[in-house]
Amino acid sequence: MNADGGKISLLARWLAEGSPGRTVVFSGAGISTESGIPDFRSPGGLWERFDPEELSFPRFVASAQSRRRYWEFYRENWRLSREARPNPAHCAVAALEQLGRLSVVITQNIDGLHQKGGSSPEKVLELHGNMWEVRCLSCARTYPWVEIFQRLEQGGEVEDCVCGGLLKPATVSFGQSLPGEVLEEARRHSINSDLFICIGSSLVVYPAASFPQMAKHKGARLVIINREPTSLDDMADLVISGEAGPVMTAVTDLLKKIDLGLSFHGGERKDGNCPF
Ligand code: NAD
Repeated sequence: MNADGGKISLLARWLAEGSPGRTVVFSGAGISTESGIPDFRSPGGLWERFDPEELSFPRFVASAQSRRRYWEFYRENWRLSREARPNPAHCAVAALEQLGRLSVVITQNIDGLHQKGGSSPEKVLELHGNMWEVRCLSCARTYPWVEIFQRLEQGGEVEDCVCGGLLKPATVSFGQSLPGEVLEEARRHSINSDLFICIGSSLVVYPAASFPQMAKHKGARLVIINREPTSLDDMADLVISGEAGPVMTAVTDLLKKIDLGLSFHGGERKDGNCPF
């Protein structure tokens, strides 16, 4: 078995031996690149074409020109993401829930692919919100994203809310506060975890990147699966360098085999609703 095979076996063993329901998965944009949604920082990522400063919340509120640029960014995001399907990594994460290992998925992603891949919505903590809802910043009334997308596609502009407030996708922009309840839930699950698996994140965006550190300081094993080094590799118990889909599929396949061996007379097994 090569080094990565050994690492995959080790992770499957940690999952099998850990306390049920105490594994946290923490995902970033890299888990969705195999679904065709680019991340921000890789070559060809969105930050090569858009300036994050210009898309910040203070700029959005202050300037009509920045709002136009922001909506261009969202038009592109919606175009890219509306047909996206969950990939084997999302499905493997859903399988961890079905196998009784998962506490929650803490995700930085706004694409909703964990839920599409079969993770229960109540198990997915969306730190940065969700792009499939547009909300008024003043009265919180919501609007269907499709209507706004169509208006933008036809060269139109986004109108204000009926109350006069500004509309914005229900995502957290730079300079905007993260939802307090979600943050608290994420903190609680992180400090109670015994295994914390980061998948496809550069681990440089805060406060999101503080959760793996909290988990590690409270005694959890920290695992990082990424195709390039991350800022927290030095603190990790295990770093698996590779593509999220194949790595996670290999891990869950092995875990299922271990489970079958452990519970030979075991009860009914639930199959995921994933196409893989
Ligand atoms: P990031 O772009 O900073 O890092 C992504 C990491 O994933 C990189 O280190 C890259 O090497 C790695 N990666 C890419 N494809 C991979 C693959 N197939 N397998 C393994 N590793 C892979 O993204 P981040 O850490 O999530 O943080 C940036 C912000 O990006 C977040 O706030 C998030 O809200 C936002 N974002 C979300 C989406 C989405 O919802 N899909 C897309 C772009 C950006």
